[in-house]
Amino acid sequence: VLSARNVVKRFGALTVLDGVSLDVHRQEVVVMIGRSGSGKTTFLRCLNHLESIDSGEVLVNGRRVGYREETDQPVEESPSKIAVARRNIGFVFQHFNLFAHLSALDNITAAPIKVLGLPKNEAQERARDLLKRVGLADKADARPSTLSGGEKQRVAIARALAMRPELMLFDEPTSALDPEMVGEVLAVMKELATEGMTMIVVSHEMSFARSVADRLVMFDSGHIVEQGPPERLITAPQHDRTRSFLRLLT
Ligand code: ATP
Repeated sequence: VLSARNVVKRFGALTVLDGVSLDVHRQEVVVMIGRSGSGKTTFLRCLNHLESIDSGEVLVNGRRVGYREETDQPVEESPSKIAVARRNIGFVFQHFNLFAHLSALDNITAAPIKVLGLPKNEAQERARDLLKRVGLADKADARPSTLSGGEKQRVAIARALAMRPELMLFDEPTSALDPEMVGEVLAVMKELATEGMTMIVVSHEMSFARSVADRLVMFDSGHIVEQGPPERLITAPQHDRTRSFLRLLT
């Protein structure tokens, strides 16, 4: 589903991604960990055209994302191509990013109606099914401000799923939540994984990583320093940086 090759991303003089390569296969769940500032968020944003890349290549389902390496002057994809690539990728943000003036239902139907051209009643039917799936059937008419953090994040997940994406990206989806709400969001994500969704998740929830991830990827200073089955990384990390990072979590 995803193939990233030697991705380099700079912000001015700061190199945030320094040659990151990662392949993610269909139905695989990859959890990314690493210190704050190591480049995890930027990497996810590059996968979804929220950032351009300076060199390297990102392919999502064989479609190129971002800038290309071969030209001296990087060529940006046209907005229409970006829109097509993006609709296949769901993005769940740390801070939900729901439309504050819209109900939960309208948050979920907005993109399917606008981007996919789905008739309103069909989009609403899809949205109600999704709300049921994330345990919020009774919140269709609620505005985000009346929802708890965990409920907001579950609406955000439903909103991403409404586009029927082939890949879901989660950027620290539970780190802004009160502890008692973390479980309900992780449970929805776990169910998605069980159903075979391909997922890349930035998260430091190690029990989630242990029980759901096929692979754990450790970022440090813009590099992937180590990756492998979660159990092996957690119990027998090979790299000093992984070892010291995991010690911080426990
Ligand atoms: P966190 O867990 O804090 O989100 P992270 O590993 O996801 O950390 P990034 O958010 O990708 O790290 O940030 C990597 C580095 O890039 C940081 O030093 C950050 O300050 C910098 N950075 C991110 N976005 C920008 C931007 N738009 N302009 C300038 N610098 C940026």
